[in-house]
Amino acid sequence: MREIFDTIAAERQRHPWRRLAVRVALLAAIVAFSFWADTREKRAMARRGGASSPRASFAWPAMGTVAEFEAAGDPAMAARMRNVVADAFAEVEEELSVFLTNSVVSRLNRGEAVEVPESGHAATVIGFALETAEASGGAFDPTVGPLMRVWGLRGGGGALPPLNVISNTLASVGWWRVRLVPVGEGRVRISTRGAEIDLGGIAKGYAVDLAVHRLAEAGRTDFLVNLGGNIRVHGAPATGRADWNIAVRDPSGRRPPSPLPRHLRSGEAVATSGSYERFVEINGKRFSHIIDPRIGTPVDNGLASVSVIAPSAMMADAYSTTLFVLGGKAGAAFLATRPGCTAAFIKR
Ligand code: ADP
Ligand code: MG
Repeated sequence: MREIFDTIAAERQRHPWRRLAVRVALLAAIVAFSFWADTREKRAMARRGGASSPRASFAWPAMGTVAEFEAAGDPAMAARMRNVVADAFAEVEEELSVFLTNSVVSRLNRGEAVEVPESGHAATVIGFALETAEASGGAFDPTVGPLMRVWGLRGGGGALPPLNVISNTLASVGWWRVRLVPVGEGRVRISTRGAEIDLGGIAKGYAVDLAVHRLAEAGRTDFLVNLGGNIRVHGAPATGRADWNIAVRDPSGRRPPSPLPRHLRSGEAVATSGSYERFVEINGKRFSHIIDPRIGTPVDNGLASVSVIAPSAMMADAYSTTLFVLGGKAGAAFLATRPGCTAAFIKR
């Protein structure tokens, strides 16, 4: 299924909307079927647990993963709400994806001067990514892109990179190299001193926040948005219940889903970062798609996954990636400095 999403992304670059629409319609049928047929592998990492009153739910491919939307009440209204969510995801992807050659991020990475409104998607997400990078001592770092390629985590993997290649690559990694430089008329250029930006560890969370914000602004309530394990809730899950009981899938698949340390209140988010959904296999060993930017190697610290509950999905997304790098002890210390956040670590 991952290949299908990659194909969609690649096709989108080459063809205008009409041809894409036909392909997406065809693929949607396949994706919808395989999604429902193969829940364990293809569904997002975490799911809402417990019984509830009648509610509509939708699933579709978005941003290289699976999007889900659930809402209580009128199904026709729920379908319209789902469209708002899908539009928000598409908008964020178009602006922030490094896989789309014309996204704002790709253009910035090429050194172009781009219009970037101060409170727009790119400025907000890049700003928060750099803030998290600094606060985490570089455990979170939006300049890991070149390391992802060296380790074959962007395709074409299969061989261990030699040490000198890793150390050469580290010379172009480092959040402190990145600066947005205003060049007049609301446009900015990025000064990267050899680095490039990759918002893969944070953009999905932001997309979820945008979707929730748009629905809440329109007065909608009692719904859940999930983008590949980045979940945010708004309102109540069912009549008579205020809190959302979310369960995290067991990474090994051997145990039943485990509940989070606490239920989510309206407006809260949870994200899970793990080594089990995306990885590259080299000499029979699995390497996680989360890199420790301080040493240039995929994280291998005995953790299977980390879930973080936070006041926003962007925070939950960034911090779950951060904590996966930091591990239990340093991760807990980092999270203690972030108000409203709680973490759950699952060992391999
Ligand atoms: P997922 O994308 O599977 O939900 P994460 O949110 O943890 O998982 O993000 C992983 C992605 O973040 C990688 O695919 C890569 O683009 C990027 N990334 C990898 N390591 C780091 C890191 N240390 N800091 C910031 N981003 C990272
Ligand atoms: Mg993340």
